[in-house]
Amino acid sequence: MREIRWHGRGGQGAKSMSQVLAEAWLRQGRWVQAFPEYGPERSGAPVTAYTRADARPIRIHHAVRNPDAVVVLDPSLLGEVPVTAGLRPGGFVLVNSPESASSLAERLPGVRVLRVDGSALARTAGGNYANVVLLGAVAGVLGEPALEALQQAFAATFAKLSPEAVAVNFKALEAGYRAALEEAERPGPGAVQAAPTPREDLPGAVVLAQDAPHPRTGGWRTGLKPAVRLEACVNCLLCWVYCPDAAILTENQAFVGFDYQHCKGCELCVKACPTAAIEMVPEGLELVGQGQLTPRTQGGRHA
Ligand code: SF4
Ligand code: SF4
Repeated sequence: MREIRWHGRGGQGAKSMSQVLAEAWLRQGRWVQAFPEYGPERSGAPVTAYTRADARPIRIHHAVRNPDAVVVLDPSLLGEVPVTAGLRPGGFVLVNSPESASSLAERLPGVRVLRVDGSALARTAGGNYANVVLLGAVAGVLGEPALEALQQAFAATFAKLSPEAVAVNFKALEAGYRAALEEAERPGPGAVQAAPTPREDLPGAVVLAQDAPHPRTGGWRTGLKPAVRLEACVNCLLCWVYCPDAAILTENQAFVGFDYQHCKGCELCVKACPTAAIEMVPEGLELVGQGQLTPRTQGGRHA
């Protein structure tokens, strides 16, 4: 799993970039999450946002505690917010700053610090959004998602922008992507790895997100399970969006059934389905035809 934490101030686009990054990963077939955490509701207040991507369904829903990468959109946050907290071994902090990397490394001892002057690169590209440059930059250092996926995700997210504005932002993304590749290859300070943050609720233990257990919540069902009439499914994937347990299975971005090991029977997918293709049925039965029930005849993913 990849986990990214974004630090910015209100209005600097941390939330938007966390979402575009997730969208780009989604376009590459990954499971994703992106969500913000706000402080005071005012422009200029510190804002944190998170992006997760994994090849498997993501079953954790809390804030990113042990990021692979931290993106700092505003260098003034360095003395204000613990940006290095929980940084995973091998992780890095990417700072938008004209300051030298060695100077930044002195302010963030013990972690790998990379810097990109996003504001200057954005101006060179013809725009003024450093956050877009930093989005390209973090993908460049991580080696994923691909620049083309980032650009497609950006265009889809900001569909109301003019073609000229999109072109400027594509340039900014590419500038950040390439600048970060150079920065990541530059020898210098910051190869030191930070220790993971101990869990307060598990004294003495260190738990990384990828090691978190995936509890088999399927045992929580009380006699009913979701079942689908595939002929009524229009593949909108709203059930996938709303399922809190990532128990909707897809292949090639198409609905294929339920993961009953983890479906706890909450019925949210039933409420989300716009075509009433999903119904709750007694365990062991299938839905067929116009809604008739039949005994389950084979093991499988569908109801
Ligand atoms: S009932 Fe539907 S929404 Fe709830 S856990 Fe099962 S598949 Fe997910
Ligand atoms: S919400 Fe309903 S129509 Fe949409 S993918 Fe799920 S089952 Fe199909």
